[in-house]
Amino acid sequence: MSKFNKKATVLIHGGVDGDERTGAVNVPIYQTSTYKQVHLGQHKGYEYSRTGNPTREALEKLIAELEHGRFGFAFASGMAATTAVLTLFKTGDKILISKNVYGGTFRVLANVYNQFGITYEIVDTNHLEDLEGALTDEVKAVFIESPANPLMTVTDIEAVANVVHEKGKLLIVDNTFMTPYLQRPIDLGADIVVHSATKYLGGHSDLIAGLAVVKDKDIADRLYYIQNATGGILQPFDAFLLIRGIKTLGVRMDKHQENAIYVANWLKHHADVKKVYFPGLGTDPGYNTQKKQADGPGAMISFELKDEFDIKKFFDRLELIALAESLGGVESLVCHPSSMTHASIPEDIRHAVGITDNLIRLSIGIEDKEDIVSDIEKAIAAAK
Ligand SMILES: *Cc1c(COP(=O)(O)O)cnc(C)c1O
Repeated sequence: MSKFNKKATVLIHGGVDGDERTGAVNVPIYQTSTYKQVHLGQHKGYEYSRTGNPTREALEKLIAELEHGRFGFAFASGMAATTAVLTLFKTGDKILISKNVYGGTFRVLANVYNQFGITYEIVDTNHLEDLEGALTDEVKAVFIESPANPLMTVTDIEAVANVVHEKGKLLIVDNTFMTPYLQRPIDLGADIVVHSATKYLGGHSDLIAGLAVVKDKDIADRLYYIQNATGGILQPFDAFLLIRGIKTLGVRMDKHQENAIYVANWLKHHADVKKVYFPGLGTDPGYNTQKKQADGPGAMISFELKDEFDIKKFFDRLELIALAESLGGVESLVCHPSSMTHASIPEDIRHAVGITDNLIRLSIGIEDKEDIVSDIEKAIAAAK
């Protein structure tokens, strides 16, 4: 637990607050691979930076506090974090994943962990009876995202946690889209939270990082073992950048959301837009659940242009908003899920879950909102 309880303060002073030795207000970058030992068999708490590094440790404490968990772990990427968490399971185990889970999570289960006899099944976590029916003996965990990419499907985390725990399984939540500033899955019953810190937590599109937070000591011990044994750790410089990014998460997120609410409402009233997916719209099926479990809708919006529109021309005409993978940075980004982020999901599954070829996903940045809308308006006109 943090000595501060207001989230805006924990963002800035949580974890390790500066440097005790010098009074530096920032945690130093301990750019070292190894540590001189005092005597044979006696060291100062650090032996080798894969095993432990003070800069990484400061970040790990910070994310654990922010997520209301007890133990944090920092990895070289979001996928390294997810992979380490999946390494908690063994041959014969099965993981249930929610529809529209991040493409890379699907890919690592379908094409890597399948080699080790860990299986998966996609379930609609909005239908609790389906979920309950799928929780067979071999299932050890349920992995969800809410809102889930790219249709911003909201899952009731607490309701899912109850069903999952009743059967003695673990609930893993990918909290990348919300961050702990907006949603704290552990308070809602999650056992493990994972992040692509590359996105909002870093916030400036300048690093790749992953985090995991655990509340149970035994799981944490095992995950620490896996982190050290498999070695997918975050480097000290990137840990520093991430701590720095997290300090401004609150102000960034507030502005991201203000802009996103504005853009989503504008899109909703646009005659050429067929559908808008954003849990901040009162008409969105996830609106009430989102309101109950999170402190805001976030800033990811997907929308579909009417069928006769030329999607390629839309992307070509954008000037301000960059066509790029990733999300959560200060700059607005756009992507085409079916050919980019979700291309690793087979076409039949993709279409079955609603990721059409006309779907456009926006990560709303913190530029001027009128400029963002004007860019989209020109692109829609060009695609007509
Ligand atoms: C980007 C992303 C990941 C993967 O993270 P990397 O840092 O790219 O490895 C996982 N989950 C979600 C929701 C993401 O957006």
